[in-house]
Formats: sequence, C-alpha cells, structure tokens
Amino acid sequence: MKHIKLLAVAVMALCIGVSLNAKPKIRIIATGGTIAGVSTTSASSAYTAGQVGIQTLIDAVPQILQLADISGEQLVNIGSQDMNDEVWLKLAKRINVLLNEEGYDGVVITHGTDTMEETAYFLNLTVKSDKPVVLAGSMRPSNAISADGPANLYNAVAAAVSPACKGMGVLCCMNNQLLDAKTVIKTHTIDCDTFEGGPSGIIGYVYNGEAHMLQTPNNRHTVNSEFDVAKLDKLPRVGIVYGYANCSPLPMKAFVDANFDGIVLAGVGDGNFYKDVFDVAVGAQNSGIQIVRSSRCPTGPTCLNSEVDDAKYHFVAALDLNPQKARVLLMLALTKTHDWQEIQKYFMEY
Ligand code: ASP
Repeated sequence: MKHIKLLAVAVMALCIGVSLNAKPKIRIIATGGTIAGVSTTSASSAYTAGQVGIQTLIDAVPQILQLADISGEQLVNIGSQDMNDEVWLKLAKRINVLLNEEGYDGVVITHGTDTMEETAYFLNLTVKSDKPVVLAGSMRPSNAISADGPANLYNAVAAAVSPACKGMGVLCCMNNQLLDAKTVIKTHTIDCDTFEGGPSGIIGYVYNGEAHMLQTPNNRHTVNSEFDVAKLDKLPRVGIVYGYANCSPLPMKAFVDANFDGIVLAGVGDGNFYKDVFDVAVGAQNSGIQIVRSSRCPTGPTCLNSEVDDAKYHFVAALDLNPQKARVLLMLALTKTHDWQEIQKYFMEY
C-alpha cells in the first residue's frame, strides 16, 4: 500500500514537472510568399514565390524548437499577389479551430509581403481569440545570400509565445519589428526594411528571442470584433478605383455594371473624385452600391464631410484606412448591414 502511494506521488510529481516544463504549442500555417521562394541562383534577384514547403521552412530554423512545441501545415503555396477571399476565409476558420478547439497557444502564418497587410487586417477582424497570431514573410527568397526569412520566422515564433503579445490583435513580424494589423503598410518594393506602422510607428520589436511591446492598438479587433466568418463561404464583392488627373470613369462604371456590392475610391488628396467619376459614384450609391472614400496619399486620414459632403451623398469616409484595408472592412461590414451610417460607425471603431 505504502509503495502504491509513493508511486502515485511520484507520477503526480512527474506530471506537474512535465506541465511546468511544457513549451507553448505553436502552429505554423504556411501560405507561400518569398519566404518560401527560390531563385535560380543565390545571387539573383529573379525568383518565384511559394516554392518550398512548411517542413523546409521549419528545418531552416531549428532554434524555434527551443522556443515552442512547433508543428506546421501548408494551407496554400502561392505568391501573395494571388491571395483571395477564399483563402482568407479558410485561414480565419482554421486559426479559430486551432486556438479555440485544438489547444494551440499561438499561430504563426508565413505569407508573402505584397498583401500581408490586407491578410493581417482581415484576420484582425475575424479571429476569435486573444492568443497571439503573427504573420511573417521575407523580402529575399529562401536560398538568397543573407535571406531574411529565417530570422523573421524565429522572431515571429518568439512573439507568438510571448504573453506580451496576447490581446494585441494580429501582428506582423518583419525586420525585428512588430507591426499592428490596422496600421501596417508595405512601403518599399524591394528593401528588407519595407514595413511601417503608420503615424504611430511600430507596436513593438523582437530582440534576443523576446518580444517587447511599445504600445497597444486602440481599435476594436479579434475578441471584440463583431464580424464572424464561421458560416460564410464567400464575401461581398468590393472593388477599388484609383484616382488621378483626367480620371476615366470606366473602371467605376465596370464595377457598377458587374453589380459589385461596394466600391472603394483611392481618391486624390483627402479622398477626392475626378468630376466624371463623382457622377458615377453618386449614381452607384443611389442604386445601393456603397461608396467608401479613401486616398492614394500614403499618409493622413480621409476626413468625413470635409471637401466632400458625405452626409448628403451617403458616402463613407475611410478615415485612417488605406484603400486596400478599407476594402477589407467594407466587405465585412456588408456581411452585416447596408446602412451607410452603420458602416461609417464601423470605420470609426475598427
Ligand atoms: N510577391 C511576393 C509575395 O507577396 C513578395 C514577397 O513575399 O515579399 O508573395
């Protein structure tokens, strides 16, 4: 009897020891991008994105196994120029299952940099967990001299295991920096230091395998977002029209004729339209196609009722969102309502 008791105590102590030493469970979802890209020669800048698989990415950074209990899966293997609504829906649903049903402590997504900011913002509005979700990519392909992917992946895992990154919404981890999904923008076509965090700057950084946060996002996201894609298999159709001097109204007309649900204007200055485009936009809005005014300017908000009388035309001002993120929010907004005032409220809160 005494032996049995001793054995039970020993087994309990072992279990407690194991759970105290257990590393966080992190899932890496690979989607492709330059981080999985291969160039013909390591010195060449000509390459194809989305070539190597998840296990190759993990094997290239064995140091992540010291940070976490790592496993991976391949969702797609594409250049992020080919990212689409279908993959976004799959990704959001999969992350929700991993974090809410399968006991993972965090998710890292490897992703191309071209549309990383849009995917991050979409996930920021549709992931139903406050556990860390971190996107990482690279600007140089996996076999380039001084490839930046392995360090970015290592830092992303370090962020995903960090309690400091809990409740921060979806993050992007590039070039030692953490950027929040709402403000992150790709600013340079080829440099490694391409991502910026808008006027408020980066949200944190990763150094020596540890994440340090500098600020918290002040918009609604993840567990405080009311958008839910669990039952959706497609999203409303929203297009973007670019503004310029002597602008042709044809792209706007084409979206109207194709019965799109919404159109975002990448307007000039404070979200202004060329006059011919404005007339088509008024007609579109009157026929039930929601117009959102954003700007092609890289910095500054698109202000409500400023140079354009939004209240009169029932247009929505994108405020701090650039056209590509305004498109994401408009798609999700249109899954809930077609009321322009409600949609404007979403743009104020998210
Ligand atoms: N075109 C690539 C992509 O977005 C670029 C990159 O990953 O940096 O997949």
